[in-house]
Amino acid sequence: MIILGAPGAGKGTQSDWLLNKWEIETIVVGQLLRNEIVKGSKLGQFAEKKMKAGELLADDIVLDLVQPEVEKLKDKDWILDGFPRKASQAVLLDKLLANDNESLNFVASLRVPDEVILKRIEERFIHLPSGRTYNLSFNPPKVAGKDDVTGEPLSQRPDDNATTFAARLKSFHEENDPLLAHYEGAVMKFEGKSSKEIWPKLEKAIEDRVIPQLEETVDL
Ligand code: AMP
Repeated sequence: MIILGAPGAGKGTQSDWLLNKWEIETIVVGQLLRNEIVKGSKLGQFAEKKMKAGELLADDIVLDLVQPEVEKLKDKDWILDGFPRKASQAVLLDKLLANDNESLNFVASLRVPDEVILKRIEERFIHLPSGRTYNLSFNPPKVAGKDDVTGEPLSQRPDDNATTFAARLKSFHEENDPLLAHYEGAVMKFEGKSSKEIWPKLEKAIEDRVIPQLEETVDL
């Protein structure tokens, strides 16, 4: 399945909750890029500049990163978070899945008002090595400033500052309508002001639509 939505709409949070409930894997494109930055690779250095500017990387660069991850999970159920982000990437994903004889079970679009997202972003903290995210109001860490699992320090993403975030949100609005049009008829929209408000709707839709499909696959 894929989860679409603005930066800060809670794609990562919903994915984490889905992972806790079902046996499913995630491919988080932003995290793959942040791993490259930590490694200091050439791609990481390039990605860091783009991320700081709030710009998207070229489709072929991101595809090179995503393709091996999707292929690694060929016989498993997965959530792709952060790809596709534009219609041209959706076309690339279609081709990739067709080559592997796979298809999407579910396309979710999270819809959260911009003003809510902007407020939330100020309160977003991340555990950089794992990508676990927290929100000080809705999903705080058990111990202030520390990751729940490792106890390591949390930080704010360098691209979560007001200027960069405005650029990311603008780029999202430019790309989102064509992207949703690509998935017209397949996409399910989930609205809410917080991840907790969206979660039960997403959970129910997956129970109703995806789980029966997976069970059918198992029966075959
Ligand atoms: P995210 O963690 O998903 O908000 O992504 C952080 C940054 O990584 C974005 O602002 C982009 O610079 C880059 N990025 C992530 N996913 C993509 C993508 N599908 N296409 C191009 N750039 C991406």
